Amino acid sequence: MTKSVIETNNQVLGEVDEEPPGTAIVLNTLKEKPPSKTVIITRERFFNHVTDDNWNDWKWQFHNRITTVDELAGFIPLSNKEQAQLKLVTAQYPLSITPYYLSLISPHEVDNPIRKQAIPSFDEIAFAIMGKEDPLGEKNDSVVPGLVHRYPDRVLMVLTNLCPMLCRHCTRKREWRNGVWVRTPDEIENMLEYIRRHEAIRDVIISGGDPLVLSTRRLEDIISRIRRINHVEIIRIGTRFPVVLPQRIDDELCAMLSKHGPIWLNTHFNHVREITPEAAEACDRLVRSGVPVNNQSVLLRGINDSVKAQTELCHGLLRIKVRPYYLFQCDEVQGTEHLRTSVEVGAQIIEGMRGHTSGLAIPTFVVDLPQGGGKVPVQPNYVLSQTKEEWMLRNYEGHIFQYRNPSSQICSEEAAEIVSPVNDAIDHLLVSTKP
Ligand code: SF4
Repeated sequence: MTKSVIETNNQVLGEVDEEPPGTAIVLNTLKEKPPSKTVIITRERFFNHVTDDNWNDWKWQFHNRITTVDELAGFIPLSNKEQAQLKLVTAQYPLSITPYYLSLISPHEVDNPIRKQAIPSFDEIAFAIMGKEDPLGEKNDSVVPGLVHRYPDRVLMVLTNLCPMLCRHCTRKREWRNGVWVRTPDEIENMLEYIRRHEAIRDVIISGGDPLVLSTRRLEDIISRIRRINHVEIIRIGTRFPVVLPQRIDDELCAMLSKHGPIWLNTHFNHVREITPEAAEACDRLVRSGVPVNNQSVLLRGINDSVKAQTELCHGLLRIKVRPYYLFQCDEVQGTEHLRTSVEVGAQIIEGMRGHTSGLAIPTFVVDLPQGGGKVPVQPNYVLSQTKEEWMLRNYEGHIFQYRNPSSQICSEEAAEIVSPVNDAIDHLLVSTKP
């Protein structure tokens, strides 16, 4: 597979650096809100020297990612043994955290739900024999390099393997090795040509890695070429930027996205502590630009595997106008076993939410099946028995109800019994009142 390999350190990322800032179209933005307490404390403690202009500049954040254990040890207390262990882990699964996301972590809180998503754990290699590199079989469904065509009407374009933060539970951990790459212009053209030739494709998902690492100008070039394909109805962007580097969602990007709609954006909040004023502002900008925002969270052991954590997350999402869309069972990926829960936990969480909060706040819990089997919703069982005439259903409080099933045959027989004497009576009336 040909890919354009670009530099992997924090200093240069051609795709980002080469772009001059575009003309920002001023959109309505949220009024400035104070940052959360943790952000203030951690930012003041570690990034006091950083000006507000730099802190709020996504390129500054991107170039100053924390990518080594030695750097990390300057922020988070790590014993010598932990540092040695993490160096072993990062030799296999690299590390990358934006200063912004790091500022959400309280340094001494070992069980911090943000920390567990961002900071490597020795368990990643301790349980390395469990799981698979590519459990969803994406390689098998790759029709041209970078393009996955699994379902009839939609395709997934993987534009890069680069992300601002490397989430420890990532399904595509296999892509973290062998340097950083973005698709070449030829590869992009091959993907587009495939889409042009397949008229059943009405939905194109742009993903990665994280596609928003590309400059806005480069993204617009790709998006506008997709938009010129008549049979493509919607474009979806999968990105974690609103969560890990919300400063990327700037006016220039939003103005570009609003020009090429309908574009939907799927993001990935996993815990209510990620819903900061900065994240809220990023989502608000998107929504005001006509880009609906959905959330796809992953069920993670010790991070969000309780009814309370999921309810708080989903309520927080609705407050910032983001729809809780999917809750994914954590895929069977090598290096993530310590973060996986049993499938029952997910179903129990949904059961604990249903009826106790509005349906809008409840995501669909899904298992993405191995070998490209696709997504399957897993729900608590509310159906106790069923016949053609009647279903026995259980409600969220455990009460049992009979529900008459309007079977079409019974319906028409019953209706005939009622309607026929009425029709006879009407006919009789009409005849007897004839002049
Ligand atoms: S943002 Fe998505 S693709 Fe990137 S590391 Fe996190 S989970 Fe993986």
